[in-house]
Amino acid sequence: MRIIFAVLLLVSFPFQSQTIDACKQRFNKYLNLKGTLAKDVVFENDAFHILAANKSKEFSIYENELKVLSVFFENSNTDDQLKLYQFKGTKKLSKDQLDSIWLSLKDEIKIPKISGNKSLQGLRIALDPGHFAANYSESKIEGKFVKLVSEEARNKDTITLVEGQLTFMTADLLKRMLEDQGAKVMITRAKAGYTAFEISYTDWFRFHRFRVLDSLVAIKEITATECTNYKKLSKNQLFWQFFRDYELVERARKINNFYPHLSVIIHYNVDDKNAPWTKTTHRNTSMCFIPGGFNPTDLKKTVNKLHFVRLLVSDQIKKSELIGKHTIHAFQKNLKINTAKQIDTDYLMKNSLVSEGEGVFCRNLILTRYINSPLVYGESLYQDNTIECTLLNNCNYESYNVAVPQRVYQVSKAYYEAILNYFKDPLLKTSEL
Ligand SMILES: [Zn+2]
Repeated sequence: MRIIFAVLLLVSFPFQSQTIDACKQRFNKYLNLKGTLAKDVVFENDAFHILAANKSKEFSIYENELKVLSVFFENSNTDDQLKLYQFKGTKKLSKDQLDSIWLSLKDEIKIPKISGNKSLQGLRIALDPGHFAANYSESKIEGKFVKLVSEEARNKDTITLVEGQLTFMTADLLKRMLEDQGAKVMITRAKAGYTAFEISYTDWFRFHRFRVLDSLVAIKEITATECTNYKKLSKNQLFWQFFRDYELVERARKINNFYPHLSVIIHYNVDDKNAPWTKTTHRNTSMCFIPGGFNPTDLKKTVNKLHFVRLLVSDQIKKSELIGKHTIHAFQKNLKINTAKQIDTDYLMKNSLVSEGEGVFCRNLILTRYINSPLVYGESLYQDNTIECTLLNNCNYESYNVAVPQRVYQVSKAYYEAILNYFKDPLLKTSEL
């Protein structure tokens, strides 16, 4: 039996780098934001250690455990990961313990195997259309709209764009394109205007907030005092202080329950130097985010240490870098706009690490951290660009019997081509990654 499983392991994961040295390189290049984790993670020749707040060793992985534990972290939920983290601590697992973890995982292993005539047959792809508002009044709560007067438009009309509406149209078209190729696609919110809880924020606030907050006290997610304080907040305040992050975690939970081979998070950007976005800008760039770029604050919570260990021992970051490169390439080809450099924006300079892909940055956002699959978080263009805002405001194109801006169709097509090219890429199946 053991021989069969060992063969399966080799067949399924030929591309994983299973040495402590490979983990160290991954740590230095993608995970350690500007060297800030030097006092939180320690590497030795045959092990790495995660340190506790008092700087004692809290959790260790040894070289002979890497193969099994990298598969474990990619194929388990955070409850099971926490049990292992606490049970194992700095101990070395015995051969019997490693075998039993491996046996418990054998049915869960995700093998991206393409079968049949369609190029994405059998693959599960998760799509997350960023934000949730589909109208101006809801978008004002999440601050994700632009209301622009184009300096160059002759009649100086105001253009209002709602990002949550653009992302939903994009994901909806992309879903149909991927399903035509045989993929199984899940989308984190079913309707325009819905949050990941399948209702609008307005309805969640009106009908569900007291029940949800009470239930979170019952499972000790929040304290009774926090609950009382949250209940006093206005709709706007509760969004910023609680709901925004709570809903992002729900998106990640839904995605992880789907066990995707790939996740795509769809956003439309604005020029950060053009705040408060009341006039247009001539700047316009594409960029993508992938996991990585942790700082010491990110490692304070145990759940974040679990995500960190998964990213350190698995090749999810390298696969994310690969889909990131294909996405940027497809943006360039279909949209014909420039690719961002780190120096272009303050948030890239402060909070991201450059990867091997031009325009692909490691950034530790809730979704890039929580989602347990290779992923790309795309920011295809600036909505407040002088030309883009007019293009995005005009539903002049029909695709799958839906009227959309042609620009939205082009963005969907770019993601579609990137996904096809990613799954075709020989690097995905070799040790070159
Ligand atoms: Zn966004």
